[in-house]
Amino acid sequence: MTDNIFDLAIIGGGPAGLTAAIYGARARLKTAIIADEGLSGTLSRIDIIENYPGFPGGITGAELAEKIAKQALDFGAVHIAAKVSALSQAESGGYILSTESGEQVMAKSVIIATGARHKKLAVPGEEQFSGKGVSYCATCDGAFFKNKEIVVVGGGDSAVKEALYLTRYAAKVTIIHRRDALRAEKIIQEKAFSNEKIVFKWNSVVTEIVGDRLVKAVKIKNIKDETLEEYPTRGVFIFVGVEPNSTPFKEQIALDAGGNIVTGQDLSTSLKGIWAAGDVRSGSPRQVATAVGDGTLAAMAAIEYIEKA
Ligand code: NAP
Repeated sequence: MTDNIFDLAIIGGGPAGLTAAIYGARARLKTAIIADEGLSGTLSRIDIIENYPGFPGGITGAELAEKIAKQALDFGAVHIAAKVSALSQAESGGYILSTESGEQVMAKSVIIATGARHKKLAVPGEEQFSGKGVSYCATCDGAFFKNKEIVVVGGGDSAVKEALYLTRYAAKVTIIHRRDALRAEKIIQEKAFSNEKIVFKWNSVVTEIVGDRLVKAVKIKNIKDETLEEYPTRGVFIFVGVEPNSTPFKEQIALDAGGNIVTGQDLSTSLKGIWAAGDVRSGSPRQVATAVGDGTLAAMAAIEYIEKA
């Protein structure tokens, strides 16, 4: 059990968690990164990151994740491959993190960097055809749609970036968006507007996904003129926003109405000795660069806390 008592336990292996681990390990805190999906978080699913400083021409999410993870492990952070399911206060002070596999990790301080996951559209057919044409990850599933006509739902950075990625495989990508203007970064919009494989269905919402064994079409409603249409497609990629991975902490830590962890200026949460960093915290701009900044800030606060204890 003694082996499992850490000065700092970081939950989540994305850019926020890994950066916090670099700082924790360099301060010679006994630092653990608890992450079940390897070290990368959702970063590994990002095809190309063009707005992270220092990489003109961009860097793949997988490569960036690998580099940051190597830095954290080289400085002495330990990776525990597990999923945290609950957090409780230890009698001796500090916290007990229970994992799905039954293992417990004890830590004097904790940084929650569990990130966020893609939201569901919540329409009939979505669950039924998940993995049978419905996807939330272009880099994972794009290659299955070589020369096929597919749709992407949403108008934010994720939807438009992933639509651009999908044009490598698909014959045609239709972006279905509920308004007549995109939310995505302007430079990403420009790329989409000039891509011959991308077309747009504006002011439109998907009301149902239909098919037999696999997806065959989406039912679309134009919200301006109320017209309905069945639009043939083999793939439906859904990027309609994200929701935070905060469920294991919801009983003990203050969350906002969207389930994001509420933090102070130093990213402290409502529990002493616990900080939140990256996409899981309330108000996060959800950029790789800000996640890295969050990880730094939270780790510096945790280091000061441990050193004063
Ligand atoms: P987002 O920015 O919240 O965009 C979600 C999109 O889905 C919006 O266009 C929204 O429409 C639409 N939408 C929401 N609910 C819908 C529904 N029920 N039916 C149809 N459409 C719906 O989410 P995101 O694109 O996943 O990005 C999440 C965060 O990560 C953002 O902060 C983003 O900047 C960041 N991110 C950054 C990059 C980058 O390269 N910089 C890449 C990916 C993500 P409205 O526009 O009408 O609200």
